Amino acid sequence: MFGADRALNLVRLLDFPRPCGSEGEARAQEILSDEIRRLGLDPIHLEFSGWWIEPEHPILEFADGRIEVEPAVPLPFQAACPWMGGVGIEVEITGVLTEEDPGGTSSGIPLIALHDRFQPEAAVAPWSAPQLLLYPPAPELIPYAMLADPFVPSAYVPPEHARALRQAARPRATLSWRAKRGTRLFRNVVAKILGSALPHEVVVLGAHLDSFPGTVGASDNAAGCAVILEALRWFRSNPPERTVRFVWFTGEELDRRGSKEFVRRTAQSETICLFINSDGGFESETGPAWIRVPTEPMKAWVETWLQGAITIEVRSSDGDEESFQERQIPTFRVVGRSRQSAHLPTDLPEGIDPDKLAFMRRLIVEAAWQTSRAVARNRGGQ
Ligand SMILES: [Zn+2]
Repeated sequence: MFGADRALNLVRLLDFPRPCGSEGEARAQEILSDEIRRLGLDPIHLEFSGWWIEPEHPILEFADGRIEVEPAVPLPFQAACPWMGGVGIEVEITGVLTEEDPGGTSSGIPLIALHDRFQPEAAVAPWSAPQLLLYPPAPELIPYAMLADPFVPSAYVPPEHARALRQAARPRATLSWRAKRGTRLFRNVVAKILGSALPHEVVVLGAHLDSFPGTVGASDNAAGCAVILEALRWFRSNPPERTVRFVWFTGEELDRRGSKEFVRRTAQSETICLFINSDGGFESETGPAWIRVPTEPMKAWVETWLQGAITIEVRSSDGDEESFQERQIPTFRVVGRSRQSAHLPTDLPEGIDPDKLAFMRRLIVEAAWQTSRAVARNRGGQ
């Protein structure tokens, strides 16, 4: 029997921000690797190099001195969000420091706003002026408004400088940084159960382990990761005929880099029959889940084994499925209708619905099982 409790425990274990490339993500990868070892398997760490951007010389200069600051939005995410148009990757802004919300002013003078405390009820930094945040980095801060237009940069200033800034004799200041572009290592965590009959044909079950900056991402996507781990547990005692790979991707929120790299490597040596994605939609009080497949034949296939009423939608979709669809690999996803927009700090473990976890895990295992044993079924039918 499937215990949603076990999956919920993992969601609670992953209750910290895990943006791609962060220490949090590395910690989450270790937690998952330990879980895989506990099932008697060796986790595979699939490492690869990818682009990265570090801020160079991030500085606030004003009459009384120079202060080192920290851009509030990790620069790689600004580069990866096309709607920002690259604004804020490199910054040089001179303006007047103000403690007022400058949103309503129309004086035409450039302003740089000072915030001295994090307000969880308004967890979005930008007003319409560049922001200096005079408090320690708050992991639940969404460092930019999703709809901020135009986007304005924000930076953390060490709180010990707050007083000096407020008392600056001439409150004119310059905020600046440059971008240092380079590469660094990333990794997907993978587990594998070898197929007994057709080991080079593969069913892939995946979930992204990284979270969007500013949230612990319980539904998007700690819960999806927990579902894939439970699927692995199930296959440990139900060995498949085709190989089944379980992948916890890095960087879905950062240009899908983990899944792109996984497909690129795996497709060279193995035939991927199906990619099953578990990503989001596990919250309580949402509408019913539905299945999303990219083609009519896929829909017909799902109908051959699916029992019970659930909507099947034929639509290509976003997220890690795209990396597989780009190579004409069929995909399957169970999605719960979300009540909240994704990527908010309110995406917390308390919001996860155990029944949804159980339901989505059942459909995912069923799809994987049907695909993994298709050989036997086809032979039997001939
Ligand atoms: Zn997601």
